[in-house]
Amino acid sequence: MAASAAQRFAEINTPHPPTDAKILMRRAVVLGGSMAGLMAARVLSDHADEVVIVERDDTDVTAGPRPGVPQGSQVHALLPAGQVQLDRWWPDFTERAIAAGAPDEGRNDAKIFINDELRVATEPPPAKPILITTRPFLEAQVRARVLESPKVRMVFGRAEGLLFADGPDGAVVGARYVPAGGGDPVELRADLVVDAMGRASSLNDWLEQQGWPRAPMQRMPIKLNYASALFQRDPAVSDTWIAISQTTPAKDRVARIGGVSSVEGDRWIMLVAGYDDDRPSRDPDEFARRCREYFPQMFGDIAERGTMIGGVITYHQADSRRRDFDQVERLPAGIVAAGDAVASFNPVYGQGMTSAMLHASCLSEWLRTGPDVTREPARGYFERVRVVVDAAWQVSTFADLGLPHITSGQPRGYKVIRWASEVILKASMTDDVTSQRLNRVTTMLDHPNALASPGLLLRALRLNLVGGRRRAVSSSR
Ligand SMILES: Cc1cc2nc3c(=O)[nH]c(=O)nc-3n(C[C@H](O)[C@H](O)[C@H](O)COP(=O)(O)OP(=O)(O)OC[C@H]3O[C@@H](n4cnc5c(N)ncnc54)[C@H](O)[C@@H]3O)c2cc1C
Repeated sequence: MAASAAQRFAEINTPHPPTDAKILMRRAVVLGGSMAGLMAARVLSDHADEVVIVERDDTDVTAGPRPGVPQGSQVHALLPAGQVQLDRWWPDFTERAIAAGAPDEGRNDAKIFINDELRVATEPPPAKPILITTRPFLEAQVRARVLESPKVRMVFGRAEGLLFADGPDGAVVGARYVPAGGGDPVELRADLVVDAMGRASSLNDWLEQQGWPRAPMQRMPIKLNYASALFQRDPAVSDTWIAISQTTPAKDRVARIGGVSSVEGDRWIMLVAGYDDDRPSRDPDEFARRCREYFPQMFGDIAERGTMIGGVITYHQADSRRRDFDQVERLPAGIVAAGDAVASFNPVYGQGMTSAMLHASCLSEWLRTGPDVTREPARGYFERVRVVVDAAWQVSTFADLGLPHITSGQPRGYKVIRWASEVILKASMTDDVTSQRLNRVTTMLDHPNALASPGLLLRALRLNLVGGRRRAVSSSR
């Protein structure tokens, strides 16, 4: 019997490092040296004699947000499934990140507010401290670990195209880039090329120019508006470690997201977000007003009484999008895509970096089947990636379909899934079992189908009817 999507998702999510990796190629080239590219390079170092990462942004990755990753100033939560993958590829990843400055508070009491109600469920203690950092800090850690391998090197330059073998079905045999600072284009031959150039990747254009079909693209126009700011941590202002506040849209309620977490350098990073024409500005006073008016007490306390470091930085994301390479009829050998180049989601769900890490796991699974990467199109890889993309897309876009400005058609079964999700969400406010099962899905440890169990739904329905085992605690606004 074919494995279910949930079983395949669990295999991809494995915490165990592979023990059966074989060298399959001489050189792999990775275009883009951010999260997806770095993770792909780590996997490829088990299967290639040499891995070259081509990154267009040559600024210092340890110096904070960099131009190549313009979203890097915004709050970036690493979901537990992503942390599991980091510790899978480098078994001491968490410990070394903490030694380098990531906070380790020995706490497990993130405060989650849904429509101003504090969720009171408790989580089992995690196996390792939970990694909470800024995005640039995490990326710098991952880059340092990848480049520890003598097989991996990074060159700086802008990838401008692919090299193809002669003939109508010519495989991808390398890539061309223009070195940072100028000079003649460089041609890098490779047995396998990875596109990890992010949401704006040109891979579809490059394939089309060579006569290959484009991967179909789906978009959902989310019109998301972010604003983040850093604050000096101060126990006299607040003892907050992590707080997340979400309001869901309703007749008398506007959908908003806020988040605050303690990060390296004894700082908090704080986010306020809205949709459509609800746009936070760069004005610190307006940021503080939003925090006080729309979010639980600690948001206002930190924004009004805390010391802001730097200013408020805004970011707009127009859509969630996915490119379904598994759907194309013809695909050349020698090329795969990973991370946002395949799919990027509404960031409020925090799925992007973890998805990139799970794509790397898909790459490892596929390469361990021993394909001839120079002759076989990477169907086995893209089929695995689809499992990850579908899971993340289901969680984020199903929730986003409830936003009033989103007019995309509803997929089959939407009304039933929405009803079941609301029943489960309501029960999770007071019930540890439901809350933990829901959290495992939203943190990408489990496939969303894990919530489709009749037992869980019955439990949630019963709790909805009796009003919960415990009373929810109201936020103290
Ligand atoms: C506002 C916001 C908040 C987010 N919050 C979270 C969060 O909380 N948690 C989470 O997990 N994710 C979050 N994400 C998503 C996350 O940022 C991405 O999913 C993640 O960075 C994807 O990594 P990537 O390597 O695929 O692409 P990117 O990080 O976008 O990197 C692409 C890389 O390719 C390089 N590049 C591009 N073109 C070329 C070229 N022609 N040649 C060479 N190099 C090139 C770029 O310089 C860059 O280094 C957020 C995103 C946004 C927009």
